[in-house]
Amino acid sequence: MSVVSHVLKARWALLLVACGPTPAPTPAPTATPTATPTANADPVAPEPPPPPVRKDGTIYAEAYQMGTRFSINLWVGEQSPAAAGVAIEAALAEIERIEQIMSEWRPSSELSQLNNAAGQASRLLSPELFEVLQRSKMICDATDGAFDPTFYGVGQLWHFEPGAVPPTREAVAAKLSLVDWRAIELDPNTLRGRLARPGMKVGLGAIAKGYGVDRASQVLKEHGFMHHIVEGGGDTYVSGTKAGAPWRVGIQRPDGPGSIAAIPASDRAIVTSGGYQRFIEVDGKRYAHIIDPRTGWPLDESSSAQSITVLADDATDADAYATAVAVMGPEKGLAYVEAHPPLEAVIVTRSGEVLVSRDLAPLLIWPSDAPPVGDAAAKQPAAPAPDPAATPFSPR
Ligand code: AMP
Ligand code: MG
Repeated sequence: MSVVSHVLKARWALLLVACGPTPAPTPAPTATPTATPTANADPVAPEPPPPPVRKDGTIYAEAYQMGTRFSINLWVGEQSPAAAGVAIEAALAEIERIEQIMSEWRPSSELSQLNNAAGQASRLLSPELFEVLQRSKMICDATDGAFDPTFYGVGQLWHFEPGAVPPTREAVAAKLSLVDWRAIELDPNTLRGRLARPGMKVGLGAIAKGYGVDRASQVLKEHGFMHHIVEGGGDTYVSGTKAGAPWRVGIQRPDGPGSIAAIPASDRAIVTSGGYQRFIEVDGKRYAHIIDPRTGWPLDESSSAQSITVLADDATDADAYATAVAVMGPEKGLAYVEAHPPLEAVIVTRSGEVLVSRDLAPLLIWPSDAPPVGDAAAKQPAAPAPDPAATPFSPR
């Protein structure tokens, strides 16, 4: 058995465990090594049992990838559960493939090789890395550099694990000149690219997860499964419907379990970004893990949003724009989203106020019993408004 198929079987086992009390699959037999393999030498592995279909007609699977939990919720309809299992396996394998290309933390990744060759001659890039870098540059331009993957030239100095110490101001200032998305040079005719300044580095932590979600959704579609949700660490793509009705995606509360509200969605991406997951304290001040590319410093927690949820046509865009809106801050970020359809946003401010972009507000479904976020009790309604268009959460 090849390494790749071994990895996939392991994931499939994990996936079945995640699905509930179904017996674990029989381990696939190990192929007997032969000196002269022939077409019939490998015994055919028995078909794994099909994944269980839940009462609502969906199959659920999850796996740990890109440093976070990914899940797939797929509506099977009249199709075969076994075929759905194969599709899910392929989708998870695709996420793994993307991580191998785009992780700046894996020394062997294609991105690390590009980073190590900064200042040197251009290199031939994979179509996937080329595409993500090209889309990154477009979003850098569109957000005036609020989103900028070259933040990593200085961002590599910052660590947000518990107990991590901040870099000195001098160290940050010394690396700031490495932050400039215009120095990512790409040639669409040859698919070659380079980082023009020696020492500069690209980090795709704000976009690669969204791209992985989009790719996984694409793979499910290529297998004929048009109706599904792919989610990874807050990045969600919703495809098609569930038995003809839009899927519902909850917006996670930044201050605990549960949802602020739900969004009915179909063929849309919904991505939440928030400093509440990772932060560091410097001189009594908290800083979240998103870096302001203009200063090389993380966002000041006291003035930045608690969480930003952005809707876009795909998860790649939504992921990158969510980070950009975080850098812009709640007011400017909301104004930006409203000026750039098809983007929509739900922003939870530091005080717990929930800002919703104009066209999204009428669509949100508010829970009747959710406690207010943070200390914004006075600003939140006790129950959902009967007419959603009249919701007090609309931005102005
Ligand atoms: P997200 O959770 O999608 O907002 O992504 C946060 C991650 O994006 C961070 O952990 C960094 O890896 C990366 N990042 C931080 N600041 C920026 C920025 N200004 N532009 C692009 N990527 C960033
Ligand atoms: Mg992002």
